[in-house]
Amino acid sequence: MSPSRDASPVRNWAGNVTFASTDLRSPTSVEQLQHLVARAERVHALGTRHSFSRLADTDGTFVSCAALEEPIVIDSAAALVWVPAGCRYGELATALQEAGWALGNLGSLPHISVAGACATGTHGSGDTNRCLAAAARSIEYVRADGELITRSAKDPDWAGSVLALGALGVTTRLALEIEPSYDIRQDVWLDLPLPTYLDRFDEIMGAGYSVSVFTDWSRRDTLDLVWVKSRVDATVADGLAWGARAATTAQHPVRGHDASAATEQLGRPGPWAQRLPHFRLQFTPSVGHEQQSEYLLPREHAAAAVAALARLELRPPLLVCEIRTIAADQLWLSPCGGRDTVALHFTWADDDTAVARAVTAVENALIEFDPRPHWGKVFGAVAAEGIRTRYPRSADFRRLVTREDPDRKFGNEFLSRFVY
Ligand SMILES: Cc1cc2nc3c(=O)[nH]c(=O)nc-3n(C[C@H](O)[C@H](O)[C@H](O)COP(=O)(O)OP(=O)(O)OC[C@H]3O[C@@H](n4cnc5c(N)ncnc54)[C@H](O)[C@@H]3O)c2cc1C
Repeated sequence: MSPSRDASPVRNWAGNVTFASTDLRSPTSVEQLQHLVARAERVHALGTRHSFSRLADTDGTFVSCAALEEPIVIDSAAALVWVPAGCRYGELATALQEAGWALGNLGSLPHISVAGACATGTHGSGDTNRCLAAAARSIEYVRADGELITRSAKDPDWAGSVLALGALGVTTRLALEIEPSYDIRQDVWLDLPLPTYLDRFDEIMGAGYSVSVFTDWSRRDTLDLVWVKSRVDATVADGLAWGARAATTAQHPVRGHDASAATEQLGRPGPWAQRLPHFRLQFTPSVGHEQQSEYLLPREHAAAAVAALARLELRPPLLVCEIRTIAADQLWLSPCGGRDTVALHFTWADDDTAVARAVTAVENALIEFDPRPHWGKVFGAVAAEGIRTRYPRSADFRRLVTREDPDRKFGNEFLSRFVY
């Protein structure tokens, strides 16, 4: 049986990117995938297409792993789960939860594929939580010659093998660390004075297991929302002490949007899988018709960088800005590599001209703080300049790619410009 082919335009989830090729294949077996990759001249994996950049593009053949008939396998003895690449975090979380297991963290939405999220350094929040790829312990991928390769954390090139931007091959399965299931409650605090946030940044971002601050900067001296996700066995923060007030109704991160798309709040405890993401799997996450940018900075610059943002005029196209913290990891292409990180995220209205203008303003304001742009989001020339020098191990990654894919079969313009 040959993999299916669909000739309609291939776009990303948000619709701001129309990819260069219309050749999209969905093999149902690893053997089909191996044949397809071995024969292709140019090929690139596609996940659930939630990236906003052209990272996933190819002028050859796209491969989706969503139809691969592979099971989720929990290895309780090793505290690992083997996950098929195309599986979405929401599906994985449900299976783990039913079996009494959990992941350490999730991104803001459960809709994204595990392989796609790990390939780009997708992260949630939390001072002690690393990006999602850091939970991987083994990976299987189909290399340019069609060979199925397994790498584990003992491999000398491991740090370049998972967060690999689709450049090494097509991932078929990943093994992720798991832990016993736990419950989380979400408490939302409103109207946090900006001076207090800047003075007490560490205290506020450390007030829960995972903390996000949202604001649309319509008020320069006040931040709109502080979302605190606490493990139920931990002390719950009191936002009154920061001069904020408790939300008495559920909130959506973006002002004016229906909170029923957001996960349950108001301090009601529930399983990790239904509290760690901001958005519910059954609903459209965020806004839908939008673009996103995000810059990851050394954490010590957090207060100065947030103060710099407060001075900008970003509306329109800004819909919401989110501030998160992430623990350092050692992955070569991780935006959090080697440094505890503060992530400054922007959800924009889908207006290319206005987004380009706002992105330039943000990048000019942040450039002195050594920002690394999120690989899967929109960034401009200021952040792109010298991007390779912001990753001290990028030469090791290029050496690894040259070994695995000497003809750059998985290459594309994005990788040529920003990585090779
Ligand atoms: C509403 C919304 C909210 C978001 N929230 C967050 C957030 O909280 N935190 C955050 O960090 N990011 C966030 N993102 C960004 C998103 O998590 C990343 O862009 C992520 O990569 C999306 O995964 P995907 O499966 O859609 O990957 P795609 O966009 O389809 O692909 C991204 C990259 O992954 C590679 N890839 C995909 N599948 C495979 C495979 N099988 N083998 C090898 N490579 C593969 C592709 O080649 C490509 O290079 C958000 C995006 C949206 C739309």
